[in-house]
Amino acid sequence: MMQMPQPDASVLARRQAILAALQSALPGAVIDDPAETRAYECDALSAYRCPPLAVVLPRSTDEVSRLMRLCQDLQVPVVPRGAGTSLAGGSMPSQDAVVIGLSRMTEVLEIAPEDRLIRVQAGRTNLSVSGAVEGLGFFYAPDPSSQLACAIGGNIAMNSGGAHCLKYGVTTNNLLGVTLVLMDGSVVELGGPTGDGPGLDLLGVVCGSEGQLGIVTEATLRILPRPAGARPVLVGFDSSETAGACVAAIIRAGIIPVAIEFMDSPCIRATEAYAGAGYPDCEALLIIEVEGTPPEIDEQLSLIRDIAMRFDPVEFRESRSEDESRRIWLGRKSAFGAMGQMGDYICLDGTIPVTALPSVLAGIGDLSRQYGLAVANVFHAGDGNMHPLIIYDANTAGDLDRAEALGADILRLCVEVGGCLTGEHGVGIEKRDLMTVQFDPPDLEAQMRVKDVFDPHWLLNAAKVFPLEVSAPRRDRRLNRPADAA
Ligand SMILES: Cc1cc2nc3c(=O)[nH]c(=O)nc-3n(C[C@H](O)[C@H](O)[C@H](O)COP(=O)(O)OP(=O)(O)OC[C@H]3O[C@@H](n4cnc5c(N)ncnc54)[C@H](O)[C@@H]3O)c2cc1C
Repeated sequence: MMQMPQPDASVLARRQAILAALQSALPGAVIDDPAETRAYECDALSAYRCPPLAVVLPRSTDEVSRLMRLCQDLQVPVVPRGAGTSLAGGSMPSQDAVVIGLSRMTEVLEIAPEDRLIRVQAGRTNLSVSGAVEGLGFFYAPDPSSQLACAIGGNIAMNSGGAHCLKYGVTTNNLLGVTLVLMDGSVVELGGPTGDGPGLDLLGVVCGSEGQLGIVTEATLRILPRPAGARPVLVGFDSSETAGACVAAIIRAGIIPVAIEFMDSPCIRATEAYAGAGYPDCEALLIIEVEGTPPEIDEQLSLIRDIAMRFDPVEFRESRSEDESRRIWLGRKSAFGAMGQMGDYICLDGTIPVTALPSVLAGIGDLSRQYGLAVANVFHAGDGNMHPLIIYDANTAGDLDRAEALGADILRLCVEVGGCLTGEHGVGIEKRDLMTVQFDPPDLEAQMRVKDVFDPHWLLNAAKVFPLEVSAPRRDRRLNRPADAA
């Protein structure tokens, strides 16, 4: 079971005074009624929840700055929040924390197609960024499956990816600049319209920093011209390992499709029952999408067909119409909803070298049998970003613990083969205690020193990312300092 530190008793004792100070700083923006703060108690890692001290919904960088300065002066912890779709518990609050939510900051500030950029407030949803430029023939490439709901600030904090990131890269590859509010209320601009700002690459440090360094209030994003066309193929296989080997062969041949998505049989069956996309009943399938003009698409698909045929696919289905393309993607896009119908699940996010896919898939199968828990796999195979879904029953005593132990072993396996604990969902509280598998003490110390610079009092999302016993001396230092001495 995930542990959280005890809330700061001095903050809880000052609750009424803190609420009054927040109300007076931002009248009408503070939520403290427990019935209304309930919606902020957890994110998409819903097995864990905690009521916050209060939620504040600012509308501008200036308002965020005032709030942050106030919280630092009062020594109150802050948890930044976008849409709360984190699968790692990144935006789960603590009892002594003020949630600063960006859901009212959704404005488009600038669109410059000639410079291929858009500037938005960080609470704007991912999908509506593309929506703002589609009439101009452009789109914003990173496309998390949660894109209808998740916010750009959350995407930046988690360095989010998506199905089409094989070709276009993840958030960090499409981010040009941010406005960042630090814990002391100061506002800094990192990067800029050209994407390669002067000095150290602090933009790269902030992207993926999980709300540990500051609150992103505005973002300048790279937009790209829409491709002439795109076409997917669906390839079915009689084993997961064969599908994994086919992915490695496609990448080795130097072909970069825009997406290669993988689903195994438990996932295929669940999505068929849920969405009826007409997928073949096979052990594993790949959805491979390529982009370009019709001749470019034909050429790439012909190469992919040649490679796939070497692996004796049980089906090779090439889309011939918009409707067929939609149906090929339908099951994949419904996969998480479909798995939710099967029971409770934990969604993992390990990343591995593509060549390790067959052996890691076999290893996951062995671990699943060993723990007696079903694991379904649906993931971005082209860049080795795996999402094993561990199915468990929250109402069966001990099942969650078993599922978490199985998840930890799967992530250890990913690190053992040269991979990483997280590809796109972040560490949050979910993988916090596994950080020692990936990093040795000097590595963790170096990362914490970066946080020391941005957030010297360790007020921002402090119980996340670093194992609690590793961050304890820094967090305790704050607890021993009275608010008025800060
Ligand atoms: C069904 C489903 C599918 C998903 N699919 C994908 C996927 O394909 N790819 C992927 O990468 N992720 C995916 N996710 C995970 C999630 O959507 C992403 O991590 C997303 O970027 C979180 O955005 P959010 O606005 O919801 O952030 P939140 O959950 O609100 O916050 C996430 C983290 O960012 C911090 N944060 C939020 N806003 C800011 C800000 N403005 N400044 C600083 N820190 C901030 C929070 O403190 C927290 O640590 C999926 C989630 C779900 C539920």
